Amino acid sequence: MLKMRLIYSPLYTIDLSHKFKTEKFEKTCELLIEKKVIKRDKIIEPEMPTEEDLLLAHSTKWVKKLLDMKLTPADQLTAELPVNKDIIFAHLLHCGGTMMACDIALKEGLGLHCGGGAHHAHRDYGAGFCLVNDIAIAAKKALKKNSDKKILVIDLDVHQGDGTAEIMSAEKNVFTFSMHSKDIYPPKKEKSSLDIELESKTNGSVYNSKLKEALKNIFDSFSPNLIFYNAGADVYKEDTLGDLSLSIEDIEDRDKIVFEKAKSSGLPLVLTLSGGYCADINKTVKIHFNTIKKAIEIVGR
Ligand SMILES: [Zn+2]
Repeated sequence: MLKMRLIYSPLYTIDLSHKFKTEKFEKTCELLIEKKVIKRDKIIEPEMPTEEDLLLAHSTKWVKKLLDMKLTPADQLTAELPVNKDIIFAHLLHCGGTMMACDIALKEGLGLHCGGGAHHAHRDYGAGFCLVNDIAIAAKKALKKNSDKKILVIDLDVHQGDGTAEIMSAEKNVFTFSMHSKDIYPPKKEKSSLDIELESKTNGSVYNSKLKEALKNIFDSFSPNLIFYNAGADVYKEDTLGDLSLSIEDIEDRDKIVFEKAKSSGLPLVLTLSGGYCADINKTVKIHFNTIKKAIEIVGR
């Protein structure tokens, strides 16, 4: 188990005084080391994406704003982030992290990113704390290297992966699956290849049976050969930005369903963590910790 590498950067931690507590990544990483799931010398730092990488998923105009590190007040309002250079830098680095996780997954079967999952970032603008759509960029890059790839994005953050759906809408070789809460952010949903909308207070057993059925149908009809799993922790019942009723054990079962499907199908998997906004950050961290540990136990062998 201790051979697994984990992608993470200390630069992910920014003092935002914001609902998005960026120190959750650092705390998750430290807990994985403390509990001997990951060795400290197996932490690897991402590299920045190039302009060419960013243009795979974003418009020239948005990429220029990101690289010039100049976002207008209106851009910041839509992104719901008080943006400064450190924040833009960190978001670009998260993108590099998911790209690196994808490279590792394609070589070794499992790419673990202790970060990423900025799924609300659209082609032309940032939204919902997201500036750079790391999953879309990494997936597009994998397709650029090998056009035969058939990529499945499993987005189980409690919020719809609207940016990813928009960016990928014309990609025949990418299947976007988002299972999310119906009545919360984003107010205007995009169309994924498959959207499952959940009622407020949906419990773990309903959630996990819908997930199992959906994955079976997707695998039967689409036959992916690479999986991105966006494992948002905000499906948790105590999350301040979610409205579902999943316990920590239910979320472990959720992760297990995805990882066992990848394992039994022999498919490489790229893991990103995405949202998680518990008032007690340690609960969010515990969920992210469980996800990474389970990924290693099931897919990493
Ligand atoms: Zn979310």
